[in-house]
Amino acid sequence: MAIQKKFSLMIPGPTPVPERVLEALGRHPIGHRSKDFQNIVKSTTENLQWLHQTKNEVLTITGSGTAAMEAGIINTLSKGDKVICGENGKFGQRWVKVAEEFGLEVVQINAEWGKALDPEKFKNILENDFNKDIKAVILTHSETSTGVINDLKTISQYIRNHKKALSIIDCVTSIGAFNVPIDEWELDIVASGSQKGYMIPPGLSFISVSEKAWKANELSNLPKFYLDLKSYKKSLLNNSNPFTPSVNLMFALDEALKMMREEGLKNIFQKHERHKRAISEAAKKLNLKLFASEKSLSPSITSIETQNFDAESFRKNINDKYGIQLAGGQDHLKGKIFRVGHLGYINDRDIISVISAIGLTLYERNMVNENDIGQALIEAKKHLEG
Ligand SMILES: *Cc1c(COP(=O)(O)O)cnc(C)c1O
Repeated sequence: MAIQKKFSLMIPGPTPVPERVLEALGRHPIGHRSKDFQNIVKSTTENLQWLHQTKNEVLTITGSGTAAMEAGIINTLSKGDKVICGENGKFGQRWVKVAEEFGLEVVQINAEWGKALDPEKFKNILENDFNKDIKAVILTHSETSTGVINDLKTISQYIRNHKKALSIIDCVTSIGAFNVPIDEWELDIVASGSQKGYMIPPGLSFISVSEKAWKANELSNLPKFYLDLKSYKKSLLNNSNPFTPSVNLMFALDEALKMMREEGLKNIFQKHERHKRAISEAAKKLNLKLFASEKSLSPSITSIETQNFDAESFRKNINDKYGIQLAGGQDHLKGKIFRVGHLGYINDRDIISVISAIGLTLYERNMVNENDIGQALIEAKKHLEG
């Protein structure tokens, strides 16, 4: 039998899973209509509302993050509706495809991959929509493909000023890493997925739905069955689910949310911020260039541009030698960037290890010297400590 290699997962999902959560996952399944299971649904729903900072329903769907985003779109909109889609990366691009697939009229607001979307472009389009034709603004908060975070706080203010348009937001790599006060920013649909900041394996997705979104739901005519959110809302009154949910992932979710409550939102956000700073500042000391603009670095993922070497072989060296798995670039960015995931169950030791592994791999290639590595680690220490 092959000996399992001890490795460290530093990709932006799936993310590492704590032992407490793995144990919950390994329990014997129970009936999904039992009282015990209803108690789990009750507890996870309350804790999801806490994590999402909302009084809105937070519904749990068995499916990955894309299921929740698709559900948000098809439950609030109708064929031919005009929507704005923000696109500055692979996920933004996905929501354009979904919207077009369902026959929506898509107006894109784009930014170069690696740059944040310009909130003023949203303001202009929304302010000039005198007939209130725009039914929704669809947008990715933390664009995982590039490591850019978009200014959702400002953009959500412009959406609110429009009054009619709904916000449908992919917060898959921001919830659980960054402050997303759903009620304060009056976000209508917020979608996320279990394998990211929630510290559990892939398979569940979450969607919060505002009062305004439920009103839009009454008019929505796009086809839906498994993802019909009305049936999830109705079942939730009973702490239940319309179909057979992934019972064991629900055990895991319950445990992970308890851990997050013990840690507290402020500590969770600060930890991600410290880790982001440590990695990005250390990278600079190693003469590396950050791919995302400095003002818009995502708290959950750091993209590094490899200007004069192949990112894929670099990533492979790090995995072979140090057992740290990093993510590559997608599409035209393949070979040009690598991405360090620092979302969820990541600690300071992981950060120090990945910086050391990157430094030593550059050293072997004669791209940095001893002094650079030392400086990178001291820089990291400074940010890890506060
Ligand atoms: C991971 C991710 C998703 C969801 O992708 P799935 O593969 O469906 O889980 C959506 N948006 C972003 C920004 C992501 O990082």
